[in-house]
Amino acid sequence: MTKMKLVNVMEEIVTGLVRYFLHSPEYQTFCHCEECQLKIAAEALNHLPAYYAASENEREEIFNELKNLKQMESINKEIIRAIHEAGKRKHFAK
Ligand SMILES: [Zn+2]
Repeated sequence: MTKMKLVNVMEEIVTGLVRYFLHSPEYQTFCHCEECQLKIAAEALNHLPAYYAASENEREEIFNELKNLKQMESINKEIIRAIHEAGKRKHFAK
């Protein structure tokens, strides 16, 4: 049996979408680095409800639930807002 742990399905969806958005032509002027991706994901996730799953079945169930059109609309909106929010701050590279 694999080790069990809690998974925030919202986090999985949002981190995937942030990467996707930042690599689309529309957002090519924004920084793509790992740090900025995480910052944007955190910013978006702080404004979205967490959806925890305790098993793989539950994870899939929640994933399918969240993919319904209305939910995705508000998730996308929140991510776009987060990209612009993070884009206002300067990225201080090391
Ligand atoms: Zn960056």
